[in-house]
Amino acid sequence: MRKPFIAANWKMYKTTGETKDFITNFLPAVKAVDNVDIVLAPPFISLSLAGDLLKGSNVMLSAQDLYFEAEGAYTGEVSAKMILDVGCKWVIVGHSERRQYFNESDDFLNKKTKAAKAAGLGVIFCIGESLDERNSGKMFDIIKREVEGGLKDVDTDNLVVAYEPIWAIGTGVTATPDQAQEAHAFVRDRLRDMYGAKADDIRILYGGSVKPDNVTEIMSKPDVDGALVGGASLKPDSFEKIVKFG
Ligand code: PEP
Repeated sequence: MRKPFIAANWKMYKTTGETKDFITNFLPAVKAVDNVDIVLAPPFISLSLAGDLLKGSNVMLSAQDLYFEAEGAYTGEVSAKMILDVGCKWVIVGHSERRQYFNESDDFLNKKTKAAKAAGLGVIFCIGESLDERNSGKMFDIIKREVEGGLKDVDTDNLVVAYEPIWAIGTGVTATPDQAQEAHAFVRDRLRDMYGAKADDIRILYGGSVKPDNVTEIMSKPDVDGALVGGASLKPDSFEKIVKFG
């Protein structure tokens, strides 16, 4: 069975001090949770500190992005090896904000995914359609293109896929559980085309305005295996309620 996977994407929020305060409050509150994989993705600047604070705990660390080159003259970028070195097990690749504001293409994200996996990081690979794409009937084409392009020649080990409809991210509008299930089932079918029966072991997360009061219903759907949470992950008590859903 697929173990639920719930990750906090802090985006460009929290200083190192705020990261420390969060983790100090959050860890004792969730230390008995052993039925969910819990992941925090702070900004790069806090990863090292967070890695030290989370060491030996049941909460894993993720970066929000990486660059695909191993090292070199790439001012401002961070490699997979650097991310691993500070204690990360995971990295988010292809978040819609990266695709939208930084023009990251399927090919580019495929390179990032391969570099992360080759270095030993798990990848939380994000996909999802905009409202225009949904309304104009292109939703399934977009999702198919993002899955097949981004995951080309990528194996399934430590691969998690996050379906995040762009119109639901940070907007307070959540996909209904049925809309999430419809998209997740479609994603799983595409993963079956690529990976055969191994697709049944891949966790597919839902992301888009997940909160303590809607997580249980969304998680009840058969192809929803977890959540990627932005806004509602920024306060320890709110994220605690989410990881203790059900
Ligand atoms: C996200 O950043 O991946 C996200 C889903 O954000 P929010 O929960 O705020 O919609």
